[in-house]
Amino acid sequence: MQDIDLKQYIRGIPDFPKPGILFYDISTLLRNADAWQLATARMARAVGPWQPDQLAAIESRGFLTAAPLATRLGCGIVMLRKPGKLPGDTISLSYDLEYGTDSLHIQADAIKPGQRVVVTDDLLATGGTLAASVALLRKAGADVIGASVLIELTALGGRNKLDVPVHSLLSYE
Ligand code: AMP
Repeated sequence: MQDIDLKQYIRGIPDFPKPGILFYDISTLLRNADAWQLATARMARAVGPWQPDQLAAIESRGFLTAAPLATRLGCGIVMLRKPGKLPGDTISLSYDLEYGTDSLHIQADAIKPGQRVVVTDDLLATGGTLAASVALLRKAGADVIGASVLIELTALGGRNKLDVPVHSLLSYE
């Protein structure tokens, strides 16, 4: 299993969710217990030396990467969610999409001041989502020390929008 090429478990679906987008579908990786174990073990090995106190999980596929990583690393998880999902006081940040804007929220008491936080998601494309997440986490008092993604689309240059180290397990042009 160690030599396995994890890319064989990821499907590229053309024109989803709209024409011109090649959607990297991780459902086929998630369905394979051995491949998913290996992927998360490798992500944990890369993130472990950063010694995070918390992982910040971006809704929704970031929840999938965060849970096994946090269990392996022995740290907590804070959720970054779309509007209207989190109870209690929240802090939010709006960010631009290709068309329109979106926002992410975090519970106001989620981060103890100065906690070391690694933010995680399934995929880094333009970097807008991760950059907004880093900004939101800082607003909430976090010391953001890195970002961890399963897949990076390198041609889009998303990591250049981020001022923290980024680890990606698999990259595509
Ligand atoms: P971005 O903000 O452009 O870096 O987009 C990252 C977010 O959008 C992540 O939460 C991804 O799940 C999703 N995403 C963007 N592009 C793709 C793609 N080609 N395939 C799958 N998910 C994508």
